[in-house]
Amino acid sequence: MDERTGWTAEDTEDVVCCLCRVPGTLVHDVAPFGVVRCPQCELVFTSPRLRPEALQRIYDDAGYFEGGVYGSAVSTDAAPSIETRLSPAMLLQRTWTAGRLALIDRERGGPAAGGRLLEVGAGYGLFLAAAREAGWTTSGVELSRTGAKHAQDTLGLDVFCGQLEEAPLTPGSDVVCAWDTVEHVPDPLSFWRTVRAQVADDGVVLFSTPYVSSLPARLLGTRWWTLKPTEHIWHFTPRTHALLLARAGLALTRVVRNPLAPANAGRLDSLVGVARPIPDA
Ligand SMILES: [Zn+2]
Repeated sequence: MDERTGWTAEDTEDVVCCLCRVPGTLVHDVAPFGVVRCPQCELVFTSPRLRPEALQRIYDDAGYFEGGVYGSAVSTDAAPSIETRLSPAMLLQRTWTAGRLALIDRERGGPAAGGRLLEVGAGYGLFLAAAREAGWTTSGVELSRTGAKHAQDTLGLDVFCGQLEEAPLTPGSDVVCAWDTVEHVPDPLSFWRTVRAQVADDGVVLFSTPYVSSLPARLLGTRWWTLKPTEHIWHFTPRTHALLLARAGLALTRVVRNPLAPANAGRLDSLVGVARPIPDA
């Protein structure tokens, strides 16, 4: 049993690599979980990992986003205090949002002008609200009921609460964003295939995710603050991400690792990726 969280082996399930369908080899023993690496493609993932029902309980917890980088960036007050607006988390959040919207414009070759933007893993809806402000027609998907409710009720956004595969979406989005989401999903290959089905053939996909080949991940081992075996159930490198995206019909065209780039500000262990649909052969 994990002393801090109370999870036991009963709450877990074994999984295989989503690309190669084979079990992984143990890298870190974090009982009752394991961090393993696929012997064929080197994708790193958590197995055993929490069963879906246990995982949903974490995301439904009202405290899920509190305390993390997104925590203090969210205020339920109509007029957040100056302390809230100037908190380090809020300033980082604003830097990422502005940097990511600018990156989207650069990739698209111009400003929004009414294009459709879908965000998967919309959280409290802060990025989506900024995208709407920038001229995008927005929609979102969010697994956490607390997050989705804030996005819908407080910000008036069109956000579906549930898994991407279940969302009633109209395909053909010009932009699909998934910020810090793919490391959480049950099956990243299925996730990217669903994203591919949603993005227009001339559209663009942008995402952020921690990467296990980063310096903090390599130096800190089990002390890497992003390892989080309950929630971060897949760990990528630029190479394994490119493999995975390609299998889903998407080409990884840009990777931003610089922690000084606004889209990735202050993040030593995360990257921002850009992918585009591979034309049908
Ligand atoms: Zn594999």
